[in-house]
Amino acid sequence: MSTDTSPQSSTDDSSTDVLIAGGGPNGLMLACELSLAGARPVVLERLTARAEENRANGLVGQVVRVLDHRGLHERLTGSAEPPRPVPGFVFGALPLDLSAVEDNPLHILGVPQRRVERALEERATELGAEIRRGHELTGLSQDAEGVTAEIAGPGGPYRLRARYLVGADGGRSLARKLCGIGFPGVTRDDTISRSAHVAIPESLIDPATGGLDVPGYGVVPPFMHHRTEHGLIAYAPFPGRPAILTTMEWGGSDRSEPPPMSLDELRKSVRRVLGVDLPFLPPEGEGPHLLRLLTGGNTRLADRYRAGRVLLVGDAAHVHSAIGGPGLNLGLQDTVNLGWKLAAVVRGQASEELLDTYESERRPAAERVVMHTQAQSALIAPGAETTALRVLFGELLRDPGNARHIAATMAGSDVRYDMGSADAHPLAGRFAPDLTIEVDGGAVRLAELARAARPLLLDFTGDAAAAKEASGRQDRVHIVTGRCSGSSHGVSALLVRPDGYVAWASSSPEPDEGELGTLRTALTRWFGSAT
Ligand SMILES: Cc1cc2nc3c(=O)[nH]c(=O)nc-3n(C[C@H](O)[C@H](O)[C@H](O)COP(=O)(O)OP(=O)(O)OC[C@H]3O[C@@H](n4cnc5c(N)ncnc54)[C@H](O)[C@@H]3O)c2cc1C
Repeated sequence: MSTDTSPQSSTDDSSTDVLIAGGGPNGLMLACELSLAGARPVVLERLTARAEENRANGLVGQVVRVLDHRGLHERLTGSAEPPRPVPGFVFGALPLDLSAVEDNPLHILGVPQRRVERALEERATELGAEIRRGHELTGLSQDAEGVTAEIAGPGGPYRLRARYLVGADGGRSLARKLCGIGFPGVTRDDTISRSAHVAIPESLIDPATGGLDVPGYGVVPPFMHHRTEHGLIAYAPFPGRPAILTTMEWGGSDRSEPPPMSLDELRKSVRRVLGVDLPFLPPEGEGPHLLRLLTGGNTRLADRYRAGRVLLVGDAAHVHSAIGGPGLNLGLQDTVNLGWKLAAVVRGQASEELLDTYESERRPAAERVVMHTQAQSALIAPGAETTALRVLFGELLRDPGNARHIAATMAGSDVRYDMGSADAHPLAGRFAPDLTIEVDGGAVRLAELARAARPLLLDFTGDAAAAKEASGRQDRVHIVTGRCSGSSHGVSALLVRPDGYVAWASSSPEPDEGELGTLRTALTRWFGSAT
């Protein structure tokens, strides 16, 4: 690991529990999670102000329910209504009809990344996390007790000690490189994607779909990739914001125009993709306006998520195509998985072994994203064979069972965590259903009980034996007894980890000694011994 030992480096004598390199969405979310769990994080962000560029246009998948667990869904939507699954989406530019799918797992929150980051920064600050803008991690070393970070700050270089350091510093992560963690995968250089804010004349809006009615071509539906034999086009008319027009082309579309990209360049690309002109106009209203050109792309996964006292989250650990918008679903759930575990270790409530479950649980989720984004990239490519594959794939997607499989894959709910018992309850290792519990004369949703990010033991049985079993850990576990109203998903008692995953569940009206024994094991495994 490199260390900057320049003589002018000073040492910040204060030390902290966890240093987070990178104040993007994942670094900020981790700061919230650590603060909620009682650890002291410091976020180092090299930018003095949030980047102008907006990457994600929305969040897709189980992360929307995770945000509900933390009260952030309400903050971002301005409504206390719980998130509802979407009736349809798109996979590899093929429509995914979810209207007939039972127990549809796919949620979407159409909020731009900049707003998500602002909300997370506000929340992290409210919770007492320290965010140092204009501070760049430049080097690090570690020993048995902790990590020493070399930092370039506005007042010059300095060093800061922490028990752990988390690299949330994006796809080019310096933290990952300094630890010698490899980033194997593939780089493609045969695609060119162009995106811009545009204004579309009213006469070109298809009244039936809200998409584009392109003279001489036909309808390009809104909010989905539309494939032709020559490339891809997408039209996203977000309410209250300028519409985004995107094209993607392969191979032969050599870029001859000088940088930067222009609207005229996008115009020519649209003509190549559709075979006709689309007479769009420059965007109206206040900028900054999007004008983005991306060539090629990387699909890579860190060969380890941890090197001693340094861990990786988000894009620092994995990069992949943005198709289908899986990035924040994956990254933010990394942070929610790691936050409570790392806090328990720094607070002396758990051994370091707990940290091993971060990688064993989250790497499979990243592998699934790598798989489905590559599958979607194959489905959108040009060529007669791909067209044939799409016909067949489209037929398969009309089966609600297959549509559900794809929806669960995109939601990230297809990965079941190992809760240590082969005959565990079907809900164990899954994200908890949003049960409604009648307690103290009122009704409360599980997601509302999860706001404090504490473990939950919910007991709906008559004898409250599960609650009694957990009572020795009341200092760590929030125990709730009551009645489940609405669907109970067949459970009578369940133990939910702070990341929303079910660690143990029972369907028995009165769990027997054997079941209570497995509850005891789960409590000890995840939250330590009884006091
Ligand atoms: C064009 C595009 C569209 C996308 N669309 C979607 C979408 O619709 N939905 C979705 O979920 N995801 C989408 N993504 C993916 C999503 O944007 C990323 O997954 C997300 O930004 C990753 O967050 P992060 O915090 O891990 O990294 P980043 O957002 O890259 O943040 C890393 C932060 O670390 C800082 N930093 C870097 N090095 C240092 C250092 N040495 N010291 C201090 N600070 C440092 C950087 O300044 C930055 O602020 C898209 C991505 C792209 C490129």
